Amino acid sequence: MAVSLIVFAMAAKPSFAQKKADPVKSLRVYLFDCGMIKGLNPSEYQLKKEDMKSTDMVVPCYLIVHPKGTLMWDVGVIPDSAFKGDAPVSQSHGSVTLSSPKPLLPQLAALGYPPEDITYVAFSHYHSDHTANANAFAGSTWLVHAAEREAMFTVKPEQQSAYDRLKNSKTVLLPNTDYDVFGDGTVIVKSAPGHTPGHQVLALKLPKTGPVLIAGDLWHYPGERSVNQAPKSEANREQTMASRAAMEAFLKQSGAQLWIEHDPDTFNRLKKAPDYNQ
Ligand SMILES: [Zn+2]
Repeated sequence: MAVSLIVFAMAAKPSFAQKKADPVKSLRVYLFDCGMIKGLNPSEYQLKKEDMKSTDMVVPCYLIVHPKGTLMWDVGVIPDSAFKGDAPVSQSHGSVTLSSPKPLLPQLAALGYPPEDITYVAFSHYHSDHTANANAFAGSTWLVHAAEREAMFTVKPEQQSAYDRLKNSKTVLLPNTDYDVFGDGTVIVKSAPGHTPGHQVLALKLPKTGPVLIAGDLWHYPGERSVNQAPKSEANREQTMASRAAMEAFLKQSGAQLWIEHDPDTFNRLKKAPDYNQ
């Protein structure tokens, strides 16, 4: 019965169907260059410009591929709809410039992972530099903390436009403890609130790289790890400091590498799609 259903499904597909990725044998992470944020004021993060190599932030998007399914983690600062042809996009908002070299979805499709095939979608948090393409993943199962979801649909409607289709997505409201996405301990969503009410980070156990913590905006710059103050405009600064302490303890205990998402040095040393980290 199962076999005949599969044959039927294959026959029903048009002959120009996109390439589909083969199942993987072990965990891997694809990083996509989803752009840059320039012109930021480091005092917002309790840092001084003269102490920093650069105030530029990189914006990666991540596709986690597990033998049992896929998880899209953070989906960019510029929506694919802003691109015209092959030209990069740059947008100025006062002194801050947002840019992206190329759209995300064609890169996923080229790897054999069109958005409709992605099992889970999750964001470190709902800010616009992490959710630009969120609506493309409305068919995936959304992993989100209740407090984050509530905040997302309480802000002004125009701020919801990047993710409003998720309102009706199949959703798992996460506990304030660890959530084991594929049930084998290799992909864990960890609660780390403060930056936003339901901010979360992602702990991976990669077969070659070892343990990794993809830290969302718990820190924006490496220098913040030695500053004993939260950024100025957190949803809850005390919570941020408690989450930072908990994740520093996790890093120490697990020996995990810290991948600060916006840190160009981290991004530059990792393999980028179509290559992957394993
Ligand atoms: Zn951010």
